Amino acid sequence: MTINTLQIATIWLDGCSGCHMSLLDMDEHLEKIAHLFDMVYSPLVDSTSLPASVDLILIEGAVSSEKDLEHLMNARKSAACLVALGDCAVTGNVPSMRNSFSLSDVLATSYQKDVSANPQIPTGFVPALLEHVTPLHAHVQVDHFLPGCPPPASAIFALLSHLLQGKQPDVSKLSRFGS
Ligand code: SF4
Repeated sequence: MTINTLQIATIWLDGCSGCHMSLLDMDEHLEKIAHLFDMVYSPLVDSTSLPASVDLILIEGAVSSEKDLEHLMNARKSAACLVALGDCAVTGNVPSMRNSFSLSDVLATSYQKDVSANPQIPTGFVPALLEHVTPLHAHVQVDHFLPGCPPPASAIFALLSHLLQGKQPDVSKLSRFGS
């Protein structure tokens, strides 16, 4: 029997890396599905560029900067299937808490207010922030949403197991918003 190995990638936008940690928390269960995929791009591996075509991409984090948006758009072009992994990707969650304030106020409060030593807003090598933080589906078609902060490893495993075998996942009973 020939087993088709799928190419998968994971991307870290504006998140805390907790969703990637939950992915690793699959521990020994990873062995059960490791023969079904190649991890071609991820913060967890050494590759430095996203291939032009990838079967499955899981994205952690919200869209907060111009760089995030560019990364997301490239991911959507590459991915046959795109998953919003975790509450930040699904709703904006923690990063979107700044949406109650203007970007100029956020930057001034973070970098200038009550700063005595050379207060300045960083430019140049720092990715420019967008006025508002948004979830993935505000910009691109999302094929599957996996909520949770982070989603439990069991839910990630179930999602991956189904998708890697060409089945439609239903993880509604395994994951919920928040913890
Ligand atoms: S959903 Fe929670 S665990 Fe995942 S990146 Fe956002 S804050 Fe971190």
